[in-house]
Amino acid sequence: MLAEYRDDLEQIMLEKVNDYMQWLEQITRPEIWRMNGYSSARLELSDTDGMVQLDANENPYLPYPLNDGKMNRYPEPQPKSLINRLAAVYGVNHSQILVARGMDEIIDLLIRLFCIPYQDSIITTNPTYGMYKVAADIAAIKLITIDLDVENNFNLDVDKLIVNATGKDRVKIVILCTPNNPTGNVTSLEIIEKIVQSLPNTIIALDEAYIEFADAPSATKLLDKYQNLIVMRTLSKAYAAAGVRVGAMIANPEVIKLAAKVLAPYPLSFPSINAALQILSPLGLELANSRIVLIKQERERMYNALVKISESRSSQAVNESDVICVYKSQANYLLLKVDDAKKVYKKLLARGIIIRDRTKDITNTVRITIGTPAENNLVLKAFGIKLNDALLTTINNRQATVVRKTNETEIVVQVDLDNVMPVKITTGIGFFDHMLEQLARHGGFSLQINAIGDTHIDYHHTVEDVAIVLGQALTQALGEKNGINRYGFVLPMDEACAFATIDLSGRGVLVMEGEFKTPMIGDFPVEMVRHFFLTFATHLKASIHLKVSGDNAHHMVEGLFKACAKALNQAISITNNGIPSTKGIL
Ligand code: PMP
Repeated sequence: MLAEYRDDLEQIMLEKVNDYMQWLEQITRPEIWRMNGYSSARLELSDTDGMVQLDANENPYLPYPLNDGKMNRYPEPQPKSLINRLAAVYGVNHSQILVARGMDEIIDLLIRLFCIPYQDSIITTNPTYGMYKVAADIAAIKLITIDLDVENNFNLDVDKLIVNATGKDRVKIVILCTPNNPTGNVTSLEIIEKIVQSLPNTIIALDEAYIEFADAPSATKLLDKYQNLIVMRTLSKAYAAAGVRVGAMIANPEVIKLAAKVLAPYPLSFPSINAALQILSPLGLELANSRIVLIKQERERMYNALVKISESRSSQAVNESDVICVYKSQANYLLLKVDDAKKVYKKLLARGIIIRDRTKDITNTVRITIGTPAENNLVLKAFGIKLNDALLTTINNRQATVVRKTNETEIVVQVDLDNVMPVKITTGIGFFDHMLEQLARHGGFSLQINAIGDTHIDYHHTVEDVAIVLGQALTQALGEKNGINRYGFVLPMDEACAFATIDLSGRGVLVMEGEFKTPMIGDFPVEMVRHFFLTFATHLKASIHLKVSGDNAHHMVEGLFKACAKALNQAISITNNGIPSTKGIL
């Protein structure tokens, strides 16, 4: 009975697969369906490491400067390590992913895979990303556009799209960009599902280049439900890797196999693969995520500031401004309606700022990418906001991120001297995390430390390297030290008493007095406390004087960190105007 049931199930599955393959054959360009893809030398063997490789006409010698791994060899056509990492990040199976040189190559691939030149069509919205038209033009494919409703949040007329997709033109693909470039609006998953269901014989390809900046989920979770859905992603935007050129197609494994036939045999170079793997490492992702948060905050701030400018325009209260309205965006840019896009473009260009005039999409609109807080302030100033205006001063620039990677440790430190949150410390050393948390909380600044070190050997490298990177990050955040309180001081704790004075003098000196009665606090060697402060002082370029007395080493060390934090808190707070030195420089 059970065997019979299994046979039935197998039969149903087989029929389903056959149905699917028939459907796929129908929709794929016949040439591609019939042809064999290029069989690259390395595809036939799964692992050729350590073998004598005389199969691919490579040069056996390394190129100048001779130090870069396997640069004389062809890379893996679809590097397994990268595909696995992307699968984990995107929450899909590795067989659903194809990587290529940016999403631009994936868009081109998609059209060449499904569309017959001079016969087939694709549909996109208007406005949207310009490459769809370029790829369609190159492939001699007609492009049909559906106008978005400018007056109504750039809404898509779904019924109109469906009517067009099922009309006389042989529409093979609908490409929807969400969030859309340049409008910044998102198409909801409900609408996407409606389109995907209504057009079962059309490929619905979603360009999610900016989805990580949106408060909306990716459509990857719909992939198992719909055979005609394809999602495209990139490392260029949220992962800050436009120069690395890595994009991904996420689709049914059979579509991925077909797409691989159209793709060049070795699309990604070794440097790109390695860079992408580092970017997608746990620390890389942490950093990318905190930058996404910052960019979203800045988008909000810029939106509010520019809306204010547009409001002052209508009330005529402030001097004339160019901004008519700002569209809400879920991406890392804002689209602005202005009086005269050319004039605005030129005005910003004269100040050394390049933005994009989108008049050919929507009359008198410009698109401005969200930059660093300092860059964004330059934009606001160009729009007429005066220095010292609250719109500029509500944010700060005393932030820094320092990354350090050696064979012993990998560390990312992010500080923001003008915010107290977040404080997130992970060094792999419990006691050290606790101490660093004291430093941030009592220092009154936001601190995020992610460190992966060789703690299986001992804690030395991790403690020392965190001190280096923390010192460097604080130094960077302090910048020219304009307006800071140069000196700070002190604190007692329980039976222990710790004194700390700090001079952010530009010279790294540590003077530390105190005897510890035990060599260890749990598994943390007390000798590392002095070493931490010495390294920290050196890289913060500060004179730090510490003195501690007491019985309990934990209290004494905690007291020292807290005292140091309090001193630091005073030292970094802005209470003055100008640089607190008669030399005029620190
Ligand atoms: N899609 C959209 C909507 C884009 O704006 C861009 C780049 N401007 C791309 C795709 C291209 O991405 P990639 O850098 O991965 O080729």
